[in-house]
Amino acid sequence: MSSQRAAVVGAGTMGNGIAHVLAQAGWEVALIDTVPSAVERALGTIRTNLERQVKKGTLPQLAVREVLGRITTASRLDAAAPATLVIEAASESPAIKFAVFEQLDRVCRPEAILATNTSSISITEIAARTRRPAQVLGMHFMNPVPVMQLVEVIRGHATSDGTTAAVMETARALGKTPVEVHDYPGFVSNRVLMPMINEAIFCVMEGVADPAAIDTVMKLGMAHPMGPLTLADFIGLDVCLAILEVLHRGLGDDKYRPCPLLRRMVAAGELGRKTGKGFYRYEKA
Ligand code: NAD
Repeated sequence: MSSQRAAVVGAGTMGNGIAHVLAQAGWEVALIDTVPSAVERALGTIRTNLERQVKKGTLPQLAVREVLGRITTASRLDAAAPATLVIEAASESPAIKFAVFEQLDRVCRPEAILATNTSSISITEIAARTRRPAQVLGMHFMNPVPVMQLVEVIRGHATSDGTTAAVMETARALGKTPVEVHDYPGFVSNRVLMPMINEAIFCVMEGVADPAAIDTVMKLGMAHPMGPLTLADFIGLDVCLAILEVLHRGLGDDKYRPCPLLRRMVAAGELGRKTGKGFYRYEKA
């Protein structure tokens, strides 16, 4: 186990969490980001999160140094060359992901599996940028990665059974529960979640109820741990809008049309938690 090598491309919110769980499971991890301050920040976040696990009694103190010792950082994709598994968690832009996969395909070992953590970009299109589409698939972790149980494993049009089985096994070894799905817009998670969030926003726009009331109905009535509008603020309203556009365009059905109030809030810069204001107000951006 400890001899396995992975690379994580992108050291933001998701990349630091993915590097954390891989290193904790014994993988040597190269954490790669084009922005040097991003990897520094990621290492700080991983340390803080490991210390929290120690305080909770779920990790021995000695393990903190060991886990951090398995993570090396880099700014160039060449650092992914020794990896047998690469998980890309760079910014959600098709141009960035296509360029990263073209380059990974050139620098990585022929047998390496290339996974993407994309929330909405077609796995099949990403895979088609490589000469190894059978070894490309989606590995969709949830935020925060060390805490959330699910990994949506998304098969592109050409993903092989062997690649899927290997990644399902790896996800289990990370202590996660993988679920296999196929490559259609939004996969399962966002295809089911985003229309609910969108409908909750229509309810606000039409004055059916205020945000707190809508969230309370869903929390207490449907046993959701968090109401849809609280969740939308947490995800980022710009991200929700972008995913709804992908669903609307990709599935060609008007039931996915983004609510005009969502568009208006995004245009006004009210993006949720990260800007301090969305459906609710927050202390700090
Ligand atoms: P983020 O903005 O926090 O981090 C992205 C990082 O990628 C940044 O540090 C950026 O410098 C880096 N980057 C950009 N171009 C790069 C390149 N060419 N090479 C290396 N690094 C590069 O984004 P995030 O929220 O961590 O999201 C990453 C991916 O995970 C996206 O595809 C997103 O859709 C997906 N995702 C996000 C969430 C979430 O809740 N944030 C959940 C599931 C999936």
